[in-house]
Amino acid sequence: MITTIRISTSAHTALLDVTTQVERAVRLSGVASGVCHVFVPHTTAGVTLNENADPDVKRDILVTLDRLVPPHGDYAHAEGNSPAHVKASLMGSSLVIPIEDGRLVLGTWQGITFCEFDGPRQRSLIVNIVS
Ligand code: ZN
Repeated sequence: MITTIRISTSAHTALLDVTTQVERAVRLSGVASGVCHVFVPHTTAGVTLNENADPDVKRDILVTLDRLVPPHGDYAHAEGNSPAHVKASLMGSSLVIPIEDGRLVLGTWQGITFCEFDGPRQRSLIVNIVS
């Protein structure tokens, strides 16, 4: 079962916790045991699992990515958003999370984090639930 979650981002770069939306899709699917595949169909956004308790972790990830991939550098891509493309590849575009007893099996501090690197934009997150 495939569900598309719409995400409106409001900043150029942002890490957004979408765990609640994905959990809702799992619940509505009725699947008790299986896998949840989360996929980002964009080239300047990504998805990752990381801490959702302390917001400083998101801040530190964004600051570190900016240091690794500076806003201005030796980029040839004419659209001018190469840093966003590079960051999207560093974070990745999909996750696979186990489902047990109808719930996502996540670590205590893990949250599904949508990564915007070229916003603000309307984005999609595709959730494919397989039993
Ligand atoms: Zn581009």
